[in-house]
Amino acid sequence: MRAVFAFGRDLRLSDHAGLAAVARHGAIVPVHVIDSASASRLRRSPRRAAYYCAAVRALDEALRARGTALIVRRGNPGPVLRALARAVGASAVGWSCRYDAKSVRQDRELQSTLEEGGLRAVPVHDALAVPPEDSAAAHHRGDGYRSFVPYHARWRTLIPVEGAASATFAAVEIASEPLPFPEEFGSHATVDEAVGEDAARAKLTAFLAGPALQYGAARNVPALAETSRLSAALSFGTIAAREVVRATCERAGDPFLLVEERTSLKLYLRSLAQRDFFLQLAWYNESLTEEPLQVKMRGFTFARTHPQLDAWRSGRTGYPLVDAGIRELRATGWMHPRVRAIAASFLCFDLGVDWRVGRDEWDRELTEDEPALAAGNWQWIAGVGADLAAYPRIYNPRKQARRFDPSTAYVRQWIPELAGLSDAALFEAEAGYGEAQLQLALFGPRSYPAPIVDHESVARAFLERYAREVRAPA
Ligand SMILES: Cc1cc2nc3c(=O)[nH]c(=O)nc-3n(C[C@H](O)[C@H](O)[C@H](O)COP(=O)(O)OP(=O)(O)OC[C@H]3O[C@@H](n4cnc5c(N)ncnc54)[C@H](O)[C@@H]3O)c2cc1C
Repeated sequence: MRAVFAFGRDLRLSDHAGLAAVARHGAIVPVHVIDSASASRLRRSPRRAAYYCAAVRALDEALRARGTALIVRRGNPGPVLRALARAVGASAVGWSCRYDAKSVRQDRELQSTLEEGGLRAVPVHDALAVPPEDSAAAHHRGDGYRSFVPYHARWRTLIPVEGAASATFAAVEIASEPLPFPEEFGSHATVDEAVGEDAARAKLTAFLAGPALQYGAARNVPALAETSRLSAALSFGTIAAREVVRATCERAGDPFLLVEERTSLKLYLRSLAQRDFFLQLAWYNESLTEEPLQVKMRGFTFARTHPQLDAWRSGRTGYPLVDAGIRELRATGWMHPRVRAIAASFLCFDLGVDWRVGRDEWDRELTEDEPALAAGNWQWIAGVGADLAAYPRIYNPRKQARRFDPSTAYVRQWIPELAGLSDAALFEAEAGYGEAQLQLALFGPRSYPAPIVDHESVARAFLERYAREVRAPA
């Protein structure tokens, strides 16, 4: 008995819910299909393409160590998997569910094609620590949570989660097409970290050994650079969210932890719950990746562009913390979570530009590959998604800089024009005094720009419009 498993954003072998489910139908033939949708997504972000290719290579090596190998195919998954299943004598084909609207539609199509071909289709929830159906079971309509606070309360009762059983693989006698390589997606990027299951686990272990105990501060202070940096590994599934949750719970069981350290671990678990929350939100609200979750916000228009949009894109808004974040993203493919919120808020409220413009812009830079998390977070920030606050939360980029980058180390690291300034001069520049900036000779083509908008007045104008059109429409 054999079964085919098609790897997607779940590029690992251990604690794999999809492999465990499909193994019940026979020894597994491991397959990876590169279709036109995933190829064009990879073409968008060179760093993502390089990371993905490294992760597939690591998976193939792990499979070879188990006496089999990954069979790569390029084409339309339905017909490709049907033909492969027939060729290896498999009766079932499994894969891990995806959560963004486009992928959900593709997976549904795949299921029909396989079932029409007389095969058993086995889609499995693997990406979340707690599958959507498990958390939704207690919910009054059984269709998932739209608000994080009650979701989190429920989620906490469902962890830690057990690991999935291991699977047996069939020896493969079918030739594979070449493994994917970055140039195939127009990428010449390189990956500056080890990628794959072992590397992700080593990163988690190192994080839990030290930095996790200071996570309470690190998640807010970008200069510390000590959040777990597991988002790319989680998005490509080189580590299971279940494993991260389990290991964190185990760490929290250490009786010698100080109160702050225990709180930090709880906050880290809360971040992992947030990931599950947005994934289940997309699962139960299929249009989430394309339109606002809040129906009342669908008629509230944001601009598609702004004369200063390029300044935001390139990290030249004149607001140092926003600019440092954007430059970190462009240089590394990642931006600190706290700064993401501030830079995204600046686009939506200070420039009044649609969250989808920002999401698509960052999608070209990010290494992570999880459209459902991008959409959920951008909607949250723009005040059109799961956050049910009465008014949108508009971050003041200067106050945020004072609060979360008080040493100015983060801004100095990413904005070389400001790196040489004295603390006093930098604080003045951060305070946004145009005159002071003039005196500091910060202007000029190679120097740091003056603020492109006056935050206080544009934020107030946005709130007035919101009050008029949303809170008290005519
Ligand atoms: C505007 C905006 C856009 C974002 N876009 C993406 C995106 O495209 N892809 C993506 O994976 N994440 C996105 N995030 C969520 C989060 O910022 C990143 O996952 C985080 O920066 C990853 O860094 P880390 O692994 O060090 O996180 P840690 O702080 O160490 O958190 C651990 C893990 O928890 C999860 N997590 C943490 N915060 C969130 C959150 N707010 N929502 C969902 N999951 C979370 C991530 O998987 C993360 O790896 C976005 C956040 C904002 C505010």
